[in-house]
Amino acid sequence: MVEVIVAGGGPTGLMLASELRLHGLHALVLEKEIEPTRHVRALGLHARSIEVMDQRGLLERFLAVGQQYPVGGFFAGIAKPSPDRLDTAHPYVLGIPQTTTERLLTEHATELGVEIRRGCELVGLSQDDHGVTAELADRTRLRSRYLVGCDGGRSTVRRLLGVGFSGEPTRVETLLGEMEVAVPPETLAAVVAEVRKTELRFGAVPFGEGVYRVVVPAEGVAEDRTVPPTLEEVKQQLRVFAGTDFGVHSPRWLSRFGDATRLAERYRSGRVLLAGDAAHIHPPTGGQGLNLGIQDAFNLGWKLAAEVNGWAPEGLLDSYHTERHPVAADVLDHTRAQMHLLSAEPGPQAVRQLMSELMDFEDVNRYLIEKITAIGVRYGFGDGHEALGKRMRDIGLQRCRLYELLHAGRGLLLDQTGRLSVAGWADRVDHVVDVSEELDVPAALLRPDGHVAWVGEDQADLLGQMSKWFGDPEGPPYASTIISR
Ligand SMILES: Cc1cc2nc3c(=O)[nH]c(=O)nc-3n(C[C@H](O)[C@H](O)[C@H](O)COP(=O)(O)OP(=O)(O)OC[C@H]3O[C@@H](n4cnc5c(N)ncnc54)[C@H](O)[C@@H]3O)c2cc1C
Repeated sequence: MVEVIVAGGGPTGLMLASELRLHGLHALVLEKEIEPTRHVRALGLHARSIEVMDQRGLLERFLAVGQQYPVGGFFAGIAKPSPDRLDTAHPYVLGIPQTTTERLLTEHATELGVEIRRGCELVGLSQDDHGVTAELADRTRLRSRYLVGCDGGRSTVRRLLGVGFSGEPTRVETLLGEMEVAVPPETLAAVVAEVRKTELRFGAVPFGEGVYRVVVPAEGVAEDRTVPPTLEEVKQQLRVFAGTDFGVHSPRWLSRFGDATRLAERYRSGRVLLAGDAAHIHPPTGGQGLNLGIQDAFNLGWKLAAEVNGWAPEGLLDSYHTERHPVAADVLDHTRAQMHLLSAEPGPQAVRQLMSELMDFEDVNRYLIEKITAIGVRYGFGDGHEALGKRMRDIGLQRCRLYELLHAGRGLLLDQTGRLSVAGWADRVDHVVDVSEELDVPAALLRPDGHVAWVGEDQADLLGQMSKWFGDPEGPPYASTIISR
């Protein structure tokens, strides 16, 4: 039997399936589209997602195809310098079209042995005490122990589960597409700069080979938003906002997106879970949806694998909802705030001006960018050291970089004392004795997603935390297994 069916082969589903496969699970991705899409939605990765790629050994291949941009100015497009002292080794945005991100994640998943079946649309599901039955559009039935809906904002899985998706519907719509223009680049840039003084949902950025990515507000909200706009509709709206349609022609693709903002009421219903856009949708301002989905997958993968592999402590799988639901709620809220600040109305414009002034305080600018990049995320692991619940930034050790030790997706005890032991958890947690000038605690226990589960130097205290995150030990409790690298 397949252990986990992942419905949807977008960035979230691909990342999740790879995480499951790292732990030896048979993960099957069902993707309804026969071919990968050519439509480019997301344009880049924020710091936390770059860290995620680094933690799985994918940094080099992402850096090779991406372009690094300053992260300053990402909050509501308010132009500001990048804050200094961001708590990350990657204080930049990595510009990569979503289609390329999906290609790289597909490569990674395939290398790990994930099975991806294209042209397979999930249309039905039911679950019992032992597993889930998925029904495909061709009436085939597949059985798995768990199923995760990573099937996007219009998620079939979410609908079949009857999970509420409360929030606001689309009230403003934007047209988007890639096309060629019939005017010189300087003329286009000058007009775009002028229009953007009052309308930030307008733009035309070069995408190479004479092709531009054009965005322009729609006239209203389309009745059927799955139907792409016509080129004529795009031209008409360009004329409304810019007084010219730039002679746009030869569109590669056209689409529309709205500002609907919604959050699934629960991320787990028995053996079926939701992740990525299937669990939350919001407008693209700030560029966070894809990043949020990848980070959901990174949080869920090892927990679901632990459950299937039989060592998950009680509550571990449920902690996926407890940890990730509030993170998405926060992203939705500050996206709502950013959308408000994009309005040309005098009230929001006055608030925008005030925000801009406040962001001149370095701490305010940093606070907002930490939200956008998700490096400010801290899960509630209880009282204690300020590092608890946060992910640890990459640091230099004597032998290598910290993130190089996380590629296998296992837990990690980073021990500067040399006196600690992972005891009976050596099959799930690596023990590395090394020192770093950048580490100001004697030892730290990292979960497979790099979040700090414990800091200290007391062995008994450590063992309590081991069982909390990694279940029951195997073998004699104090057997020592130090990995020397
Ligand atoms: C214009 C625009 C710009 C954006 N810019 C950014 C940005 O800069 N940064 C950012 O982080 N995010 C951005 N986003 C958001 C980002 O595109 C999404 O958040 C991201 O694609 C979500 O990934 P996902 O894998 O969860 O869902 P999706 O990418 O929607 O993937 C879902 C997959 O499931 C498949 N599927 C659907 N139903 C079924 C079914 N029943 N059975 C099998 N397969 C199914 C679909 O074909 C699809 O491949 C933008 C979005 C838009 C619209």
